[in-house]
Amino acid sequence: MMTNSLNELSISETIRNITDSIENQCLRYHRKREDVRLMAVTKTVEPARVNQAIAAGITLLGENKAQELCSKFDSYNKNGVDIHFIGHLQSNKARQVIDKVSMIESLESMSLAKELQKLCTLRDCTIDCLIEVNIGEEDTKSGVAPEKLEEFCYSLAPFDRIKVQGLMSIPPISSEEAQKERYFSNLYKLFIDIRDKKIDNINMNFLSMGMSDDYLLAIKHGSNIVRIGSAIFGRRNYSK
Ligand SMILES: *Cc1c(COP(=O)(O)O)cnc(C)c1O
Repeated sequence: MMTNSLNELSISETIRNITDSIENQCLRYHRKREDVRLMAVTKTVEPARVNQAIAAGITLLGENKAQELCSKFDSYNKNGVDIHFIGHLQSNKARQVIDKVSMIESLESMSLAKELQKLCTLRDCTIDCLIEVNIGEEDTKSGVAPEKLEEFCYSLAPFDRIKVQGLMSIPPISSEEAQKERYFSNLYKLFIDIRDKKIDNINMNFLSMGMSDDYLLAIKHGSNIVRIGSAIFGRRNYSK
């Protein structure tokens, strides 16, 4: 068993290494370092270790499950930290997450949009959202199909409590780098296309793509939120 202090060192060291690699990639592709935000994805990670990541400079957490978010929320040192919801969100769970997160990155259905509009109206607030795109058009994945994205954006325009801020995607698992790059560059094109349409109430400020295995490629293709789990916290243990 590792001791706590060793553990702590390794989380902060890993974060430093990742941060350095992001910085180098930004230099290489003429991107501003401050334009790329590093999210620590905390699914299955116990709060003490999440707090180590926060102590090491992480200011953005990503949570996948409503129930897990609720049970860990009070244990996080949240000073100066944002939480984004990044998992599939059932409409009937939206109520549990809406006052705990600053953004929902996984908006992908009208039923969720209607629920968010209703909840925000009751609370007299707004919620920032990204639209999740199913860029690989996989049956098993949630997200809006690329060819339906524009229509979905137009249908969201009247929802004045929902502030769409960009796109999020999880491309298919692919060992081939060239294929990964095509997914990322297709997402970037969608992002620019929608931005240029200037749809009411739809902004394209954030493109959330890239995970532990491919965040550097994603940065090359314009990502400005990289969502990193296992590269920070190690392999996930779902059995706990
Ligand atoms: C788990 C998860 C990640 C992080 O995956 P890693 O490969 O561990 O970096 C990123 N985004 C979403 C939506 C996830 O569910």
